[in-house]
Amino acid sequence: MKRREFIVNSLLTVGGTAVLSSCGIGNNSSTKRKKEGQVVTRKFQNLDVPLLSFGCMRLPTVDGTIDMPHFEKMVDYAMRHGVNYFDTAYMYHNGESELAVGKVLSNYKRESFFLASKNPLRALTSKEDVRRIFEEQLKKCQTDYFDFYLAHNINTLTVDNYRNFDVFEELMKFKQEGKIRHIGFSYHGSYEILQEVTYEHPWEFCQIQLNYLDWKQHPAPKPGETPKAPEVYKNYDILTEAKIPVLPMTPVRGGALARLTGSAKAVLEDEAPNDTQASFALRWVAGRENNFTVLSGMSSLAQLEENVVTFTDYRPFTEKEEKIAQKIAEILQKQGEINCTTCNYCQDCPRGIVIPVIFDLYNSYKATGDKNEFLRKYDMIKDRHKADKCIKCGLCSAHCPQLLNIPPLLEMVNNTVKDLKKGA
Ligand code: SF4
Ligand code: SF4
Repeated sequence: MKRREFIVNSLLTVGGTAVLSSCGIGNNSSTKRKKEGQVVTRKFQNLDVPLLSFGCMRLPTVDGTIDMPHFEKMVDYAMRHGVNYFDTAYMYHNGESELAVGKVLSNYKRESFFLASKNPLRALTSKEDVRRIFEEQLKKCQTDYFDFYLAHNINTLTVDNYRNFDVFEELMKFKQEGKIRHIGFSYHGSYEILQEVTYEHPWEFCQIQLNYLDWKQHPAPKPGETPKAPEVYKNYDILTEAKIPVLPMTPVRGGALARLTGSAKAVLEDEAPNDTQASFALRWVAGRENNFTVLSGMSSLAQLEENVVTFTDYRPFTEKEEKIAQKIAEILQKQGEINCTTCNYCQDCPRGIVIPVIFDLYNSYKATGDKNEFLRKYDMIKDRHKADKCIKCGLCSAHCPQLLNIPPLLEMVNNTVKDLKKGA
């Protein structure tokens, strides 16, 4: 079936409720409450999906392994409040996330939750791998089917695997076998490739990075100037134009939008006093009408509880708040932080450089200006894992979904450390 034909059929059968406009904020008319004390839902085709969904990429850990008792408590709380969409992936927590999700969710009736997982495009070496890995994932997740299944992280490096190994066609076979309900893809990469991939198959949804810091540069870049923000609105617009519902990830930008300091913090406190930093960021994402849920990678029960409040007492984002978000984004974009979401995808470094830790410390320094704290924490990293041990092999950059050129950024951090130490 061609993409356009599929879209028309979908719109006819579901009334087009998931796709309302090409961009901008609004009060999605399909957002509704199911029960008191439960998060609001939105329509995805004929399903009521919770507007808050549970990302299982940053689960609570103890000594590097998933803290199962804590995770069980979180799932119990989530299920009681209607947060019944769980998103995992083959690669999350080095393969442990799917096992943990499968174990905990086996305590619940299968039809009481939505389960999403993803095919690891970058790990494929043949078309046969697609089925082999898929069957392994079903076993790990203790299920017969996935409600949502994605080709994971299509980008400039993985797009050949996705095409050469007929990934979409293989996923369609699983769908025909009743093992997948809805097929989508997650995407990090250039707008040009997204434009192509979007129209190659009748995708039902797409997962992209979306938050108010990465949305646009404020003020807009001058002609010819390289934008300081990823400008993800372009991806959102491509998908919306194609009538593909969006599943937004990284709504709090890897935590950065929940640890505002200085003038950014002051703006939020003065102008949006009813919000926490996280709730403001999540509500901003929910305000884009083509998003059918907001995927939040939660690491503690406290975070989950806060997010549940945001989506049970849900207030649609307003035009006034949109201006506040722009103001904060402008402040943050001037701070010069590294555009790292601490996703850990680069952690195949043969030299063991702890890239996300280093970038996170640097970004905290840029946000707070606290050089003593930055130097103190940087010195706690073992010497062999520090930025100056990078041999510039470039392996890490090849895996970075933010398309960061990591070696020069490490060099910049190293130079900053040296300069601060000289001036200290
Ligand atoms: S470029 Fe540096 S940080 Fe990246 S993988 Fe190679 S050694 Fe590690
Ligand atoms: S540098 Fe890139 S791959 Fe590594 S943690 Fe940051 S965003 Fe992820």
